[in-house]
Amino acid sequence: MEHTVQDEQMQLIIQRLHKLQHDLSEEITGLREMLAEVGGDREQFDTSERSDALQQRNMAKANVMLSERRLHLVEAALRRIDEGDEDFGYCRSCDASIPFARLSVRPESPLCMSCQQQQEVR
Ligand SMILES: [Zn+2]
Repeated sequence: MEHTVQDEQMQLIIQRLHKLQHDLSEEITGLREMLAEVGGDREQFDTSERSDALQQRNMAKANVMLSERRLHLVEAALRRIDEGDEDFGYCRSCDASIPFARLSVRPESPLCMSCQQQQEVR
């Protein structure tokens, strides 16, 4: 069966996904620890330090959410590969094959570039 993504390229993508999974997990753990620290001892901050801390906290929260969403996609992609899903490398939405160049940059994305952009506009 003809597959757009070659075996070697597939190995590379799997490696990237595993690295992403590892990096994202560490990032989430780090951010959570930071959130726990910022959350404590709140009374010791004066007003300006406190609003800085709050801002920092909100940013960390937003980052945790983004990272968790990405980690979720990474894990879903790994699962699809594990299950020998022939559709990996094809867009979930329009079935177009996703070029390796894109897969190597965003291996977790189940969508081709144009579908992704459409989704982001929405
Ligand atoms: Zn598409």
